[in-house]
Amino acid sequence: MSLAPYASDPSRTRGRRHAETPAPTRDDFQRDRDRIVHSTAFRRLVYKTQVFVNHEGDLFRTRLTHSLEVAQLGRSIARALGLNEDLVEAIALAHDLGHTPFGHAGQDALDDCMKAHGGFEHNLQSLRVVDRLEQRYPQYDGLNLSFETREGILKHCSRANAERLERREPGGVARRFVDRTQPSLEAQLCNLADEIAYNAHDIDDGVRSGLLRIEALVEVDLFERFRRETLADHPQLQGRRILYEAIRRMLSAQVYDVIDATRAGLERAAPFDADAARRSGPLVVFSDAMRAQSASLKRFLFDNLYRHPQVMRTTQRAQQVVRELFDGYLGGEAGMPPDFAQRVDRHRAVADYIAGMTDRFAMHEHERLTGRRWMA
Ligand code: MG
Repeated sequence: MSLAPYASDPSRTRGRRHAETPAPTRDDFQRDRDRIVHSTAFRRLVYKTQVFVNHEGDLFRTRLTHSLEVAQLGRSIARALGLNEDLVEAIALAHDLGHTPFGHAGQDALDDCMKAHGGFEHNLQSLRVVDRLEQRYPQYDGLNLSFETREGILKHCSRANAERLERREPGGVARRFVDRTQPSLEAQLCNLADEIAYNAHDIDDGVRSGLLRIEALVEVDLFERFRRETLADHPQLQGRRILYEAIRRMLSAQVYDVIDATRAGLERAAPFDADAARRSGPLVVFSDAMRAQSASLKRFLFDNLYRHPQVMRTTQRAQQVVRELFDGYLGGEAGMPPDFAQRVDRHRAVADYIAGMTDRFAMHEHERLTGRRWMA
């Protein structure tokens, strides 16, 4: 399918930080996606927590399967809107590369440890991974991705960090947080696909884990509507299949809602190219009704799953593991690999090392350091 005028066009890319000869058979965004798939950080996503710690069960989402789901949803919406599917895929596969072990619990603990040293933000860390921490190429650190992929990876950024990045790379990917403009439509789409994906799969994982009861979801309109519809269409249906079918319908409804609401907005704003779209305010959006429904589903998951006593216990344990690892490496009693140990920015080096760990490597390291074993 041909690209819409407002799509990101690889032949008009703002380019890479280190100039490279074009690849003979792939455009720049396809090449970015391939580099991401071959990176070390990408392979580690398979053993990083989404909500459930990796050892709690083999069927729960990990950061890897989550990223694949975001890419699938993103590509299918991109195709309908004439946006660049390859760029969407590259951003989606990279969007969580900077996540610490143990999900948000790990990131909060690391942010706390780094309070006096610039803090820790996972979006910024994803950018550090692709800009600097991956070391695979002879000529430069990082993956040397194109501007548009890096722009999409830096989904949020505090004002202070944006200004710091802007000083290092004037007019670069942090500029929009200073100017308050939007990223490309492909980047906006990935943000929304991320939200659609985790709302749906956290219901699935939540119910499967036994922490959420499907009956409790009656209060969530967005789910209940499709559960009822499913039962009306298939009165004999039982068990998990009701859940799967309701989630499938819920996902489709959100995808079509985004496509319709975004098409309407694009018609009104009529951006003539990708940069005009960046200046037009958020354009890849839910309708107002779907935005409200998605927000109420999110609140439900927050109160009933993310704050569930069992998840909270894991969260606290995970934070303790991260804090003790941090102190252990900082104090020098636990060795880090030379790449990290020799760095002069010691606190940041420790944060980078811990952030790169998978859940189970962090647990092994913690046991090695403290002699105590994780009891979940
Ligand atoms: Mg995500």
